[in-house]
Amino acid sequence: MTGKKLLFIVFLLTVLSAEAQQTTIKRTLKLMGSRFDITVVALDEAEGNKYIDTAVAEISRIEKMISSWDPSSETSAVNKNAGLRPVKVSSELFELIKRAKGISKLTDGAFDISYASMDRIWKFDGSMKTMPSEEMITASVEKVGFENIILNEAEQSVFLKLPGMKIGFGAIGKGYAADKAKALLQQKGVVAGIINASGDMNTWGEQVTGQAWKVAITNPLDKNKAFALLPVNNEAVVTSGDYEKFVEFNGTRYSHIIAPRTGYPATGIISVSVFAPKAELADALATSVFVMGKEVGLNRINQLPEIECIIIDSEGKIFTSDHIEINAYK
Ligand code: ADP
Ligand code: MG
Repeated sequence: MTGKKLLFIVFLLTVLSAEAQQTTIKRTLKLMGSRFDITVVALDEAEGNKYIDTAVAEISRIEKMISSWDPSSETSAVNKNAGLRPVKVSSELFELIKRAKGISKLTDGAFDISYASMDRIWKFDGSMKTMPSEEMITASVEKVGFENIILNEAEQSVFLKLPGMKIGFGAIGKGYAADKAKALLQQKGVVAGIINASGDMNTWGEQVTGQAWKVAITNPLDKNKAFALLPVNNEAVVTSGDYEKFVEFNGTRYSHIIAPRTGYPATGIISVSVFAPKAELADALATSVFVMGKEVGLNRINQLPEIECIIIDSEGKIFTSDHIEINAYK
């Protein structure tokens, strides 16, 4: 009896000391023009900071590749040669563009990286006073269309068929960067962490307390108040919301996510959270559901394995995909 008890005490001490050796380090910084919060579990502060430096370097590397602002990026080279010639790119960028085209097909064009070719007729900074005409809206998307992104596998080249056409990674880049940073840290042996790219969350492992990481889904009608706190185990959760960027005409709220086919901003939804194994797909799908609307969006998500979503419509009603249950709290 005493023997057993002693064994138990020794076991408990081992567990406690193993936990005592772990600490959580977090850093907040601006990358890719957005706020990033990087959290890692490490043996001490020095080790944690070294890991965070590794993640930051990886995210900066990706930013250099996909930035449309940086004239020396591979993406800018592709855009500058639109209508002129194919551009040979790194296999990493080639594969990213190929997957993006795949998501366009999956969403019937609701997601489209060539959205960047759109004329910027919508402003979401409060400066817009009248709704653009139907002609202007239709004309604004003339150069948009993922079918005109021509990929040559053998040459590893990308050709944008129409002059003035552009690609942009605004709706997928942060998710991709979060996936890559997570993968690199896991490869370095980091047992647990969170990469949060302005609401594009990617987690692995668990908190030092042994509990799952939790994400707060923001209440879009009151962004300082979370309405649900959900555990996330080794997966990604991405929230796209229009509570910061939208414009209103005649009582209709137009979001900053624009339907690539029509040129009209998405309406009817104010927030979409998507759960998926990878942040890249979650990021792209969150944007897509906005464009597809709640019926089509939910339907599409329900057909995809391992993907779930929570939608909040413009009346504040909550809709969830088939395998998700939330106990909302106020
Ligand atoms: P945010 O990053 O602002 O939370 P998203 O991840 O949904 O939101 O990305 C929105 C951004 O994606 C827009 O600011 C724009 O750059 C780009 N975008 C807008 N509409 C589309 C679309 N239909 N397909 C692909 N990208 C889009
Ligand atoms: Mg997105």
